[in-house]
Amino acid sequence: MSSVAFTNIKTLVTNDVIHDNGSLGALNGASVVVEDGLIRQISKSVPSGVDRVIDCTGMTLLPGFVDSHSHLIFAGDRSAEFASRSQGQEYTAGGISSTVAATRIASDAQLIGNAHKLLDEALLSGTTTIEIKSGYGLTEKDELRSIKIAGQFTDETTLLAAHVIPAEFTTNPDGYVELVVESIIPKSRAKWIDVFCDEGAFTPEQAETILRAGIAHGMLPRLHANQLSAGKGVELAVALNAASADHLSKSTTQDIELLASSNTVATILPGAEFSTYLEANLGRRFLDAGATVAIATDCNPGSSYTTSMPFCIATAVSLLGFSVEEAIHAATLGGAKALRRTDIGQIALGKKADLVLLSAPSYIHLAYRPGVNLIHSIYKSGSAVTTWKK
Ligand SMILES: [Zn+2]
Repeated sequence: MSSVAFTNIKTLVTNDVIHDNGSLGALNGASVVVEDGLIRQISKSVPSGVDRVIDCTGMTLLPGFVDSHSHLIFAGDRSAEFASRSQGQEYTAGGISSTVAATRIASDAQLIGNAHKLLDEALLSGTTTIEIKSGYGLTEKDELRSIKIAGQFTDETTLLAAHVIPAEFTTNPDGYVELVVESIIPKSRAKWIDVFCDEGAFTPEQAETILRAGIAHGMLPRLHANQLSAGKGVELAVALNAASADHLSKSTTQDIELLASSNTVATILPGAEFSTYLEANLGRRFLDAGATVAIATDCNPGSSYTTSMPFCIATAVSLLGFSVEEAIHAATLGGAKALRRTDIGQIALGKKADLVLLSAPSYIHLAYRPGVNLIHSIYKSGSAVTTWKK
């Protein structure tokens, strides 16, 4: 048994209702004891008899960020597309195909190396759990290898073979749906099944076929919905009890109310809103309706090339109508709920000690000091980490 105590914590964010003092359950001057990777004690007194003490005077301790939406298995560069979009070019689903071409010709080592570099970035900005999607292969071989690579880094793997219709199937989109259902899903070992259900991507009918096939093979559903246009995605996600519906930029009032009354988390992607200039004040509408809200990076080379959850928190506050507390809650416990995880996202007894120590006296600094790296150290299961490991 090894134990470590974090003591004299200026601000401790627990997300624990037992210690509720506002939505984050923030405490001042507390200590946290971790034993064998789990939170064992939260107290005002300084504990004794522990193996190691980390003095957190003047600092903030919070749960590690849970990034429930990322696309990290790819090759290629789309900075020119971003530059032209910044000059008024509209964002469409079509840009994905340039990444697909680069990904198909990349070696496994290139894809693994690129993913690991991005995961190290994510970790060093405080992310301790991440979901990773496939979706830049769009052939049986390339989708299955993307899932295999993602599985080296996380258990939260998502098959997104239905990201866009690949060029070879432009005139026969249902032929591609059949390939996904008949050949890719049965061989994939992904935990989650996802579809980009939107204009220029997959119709709600195609999405339903694919999600149901995934469910039949033991996968759990989640869905990209209402990013580019309002459609039936939210209805479908709720009907299938999806863990999360993501993007939601063009959601109608009806969609928002439906999500709020469901078991499906509304995942808002501030990086995508920031990079593609979509909907301001988006989060507020879901929060006011009472939906469970998560924030994730959507890290991908086209519409949100950031791995930084602190950036997403700052953007959610400045652009999307979140309070600081709501944004941090959404980036931790909200993300955990979007992955149906009960062991992470909180500093509470028995939870995994995935922790972020900030060189700041308050969590407010995460939004108050945008673009500044405030991370002092990161802990997974109570151990300090500096590079991503599963
Ligand atoms: Zn996405």
